[in-house]
Amino acid sequence: MSKYFIDIDYNKCINCLACYLIDKDDFDIVNNRIKIKNRFISDDKSINNVKKASEACPVNAIYYEEIS
Ligand code: SF4
Repeated sequence: MSKYFIDIDYNKCINCLACYLIDKDDFDIVNNRIKIKNRFISDDKSINNVKKASEACPVNAIYYEEIS
């Protein structure tokens, strides 16, 4: 099973919430700011959804990398 590290670049994020609307399992809103729930994910559904969210992000702020 693959394991991914995910992160948001807050220097780029414009808080449009597109990622949250696509993937409420992995993104959350805390104090009106988008947050990642877990920086390390390994289930296929989360990995696919984070990739979809990253593609939908208008400013390329969602970073993900396969780490194992
Ligand atoms: S889609 Fe991108 S810009 Fe929009 S809230 Fe998510 S990380 Fe931020």
